[in-house]
Amino acid sequence: MLYSSTSRQTTHVPLERAVLKGLADDGGLYMPASIPVLPASFFERLPQQSLQEIAYAVASAFLREDVPDQVLKRMVAETLNFEIPLVKVEKDIYSLELFHGPTMAFKDVGARFMSRLMAYFNRDKDKELKVIVATSGDTGSAVAAGFHQVPGIQVFILYPKGKVSPLQQKQLTTWGDNITAIEVEGTFDDCQRLAKQALADQELNRRHLLTSANSINIARLIPQSFYYFYAYGQLQRQGKPLVFSVPSGNFGNLTGGLLAAAMGLPVHRFVAATNANDVVPQYLATGIYAPKPSVQTISNAMDVGSPSNYARMEALFGGELEQFRRRITGYTFTDEETRKIIRQVYQRHGYLLDPHGAVAYSGAGKFLSQTKEPATAVFLETAHPAKFKEVMEDTLGEAIAIPARLQRFAEKQERIVPMQNSFQELKVILSEA
Ligand SMILES: *Cc1c(COP(=O)(O)O)cnc(C)c1O
Repeated sequence: MLYSSTSRQTTHVPLERAVLKGLADDGGLYMPASIPVLPASFFERLPQQSLQEIAYAVASAFLREDVPDQVLKRMVAETLNFEIPLVKVEKDIYSLELFHGPTMAFKDVGARFMSRLMAYFNRDKDKELKVIVATSGDTGSAVAAGFHQVPGIQVFILYPKGKVSPLQQKQLTTWGDNITAIEVEGTFDDCQRLAKQALADQELNRRHLLTSANSINIARLIPQSFYYFYAYGQLQRQGKPLVFSVPSGNFGNLTGGLLAAAMGLPVHRFVAATNANDVVPQYLATGIYAPKPSVQTISNAMDVGSPSNYARMEALFGGELEQFRRRITGYTFTDEETRKIIRQVYQRHGYLLDPHGAVAYSGAGKFLSQTKEPATAVFLETAHPAKFKEVMEDTLGEAIAIPARLQRFAEKQERIVPMQNSFQELKVILSEA
């Protein structure tokens, strides 16, 4: 299968090139040139199938021409070596818990799949593949966990000094082996700029094989469609229209859902739930797409002022506002509303939402209260609440438990490469590792 750029200026490329390049030469994002539609028999079988069986069928529809069957089966099994439970929170509202992976955020799904695919395409190359990722917290650790001890691959994580939570920093800096954690004297934007500069640098590209692990990579997007099918399979018998509420920043998770819908999954509606960074809900309301600098909130993984996957959504909807509106409803929630919902849901239903899941839950509730027809809403719970221990405890006024999986990181030795906000320094680090 071929992949085309959302900028439509370059010709179609094979999967290998799309995955190893990350970004298209014309600056666009890669999308499948045509989206496979799954047969009715696949949807009828969904309720009886396991998460891994479903994921394999979906992955195979995209990748069977590019990756041998047995390799693909193993990739899917290694990606989804954890559960994604669907938990009923109250009447008509379910939580799809995407946080049971190694770093306890939904980014584990995309990062693990991408790492296996990159390793496969790099298998016969004599040069090491250097993977660069800029992170404000969750992405870096999910990518590190995905690539740790994968032969032939070196990972460089750029993170802003003093701007990630203490536990997040532990999750970035304690891997060792083929993972290098670079602490940049600067902001997340500086990290992202340095990563882009490295990927575009001619001299570096002559000497090394470089690629990006940020969410622009198509290999992270495809696996993010798997769990939508799985959730649908479990709720199909209820026979009510299904709504997905997705807590959104760069909109990679929601775009994964749109991919599933384009493959034939009967989704009644998507809710784009955001914090104060509301570029997409604003676009849906006014028809004007106006990216702006991000503002800081308690759901920090969604603090994005210029969502990279907007280009993909635009491509899917042919750039038409009415198409957008037909599929997606946008809602935005303040930090105050988010905290209130966390308290309320905990008191009423005994369910602990993290700040991101709380935004999505609010979106689900608001949609159900405004629609006339009966519907079932699934909200995507994207991180374990303990990752945001300080915010959670401040909101609830009580201590919350840290799972062993996170606690383990806290006890490990950090290894940090300090760096000025300097591209020259980064070049030296990349070349010497
Ligand atoms: C990255 C992230 C999001 C936002 O996902 P996008 O695909 O960027 O929209 C939401 N919640 C958590 C916990 C995340 O880490």
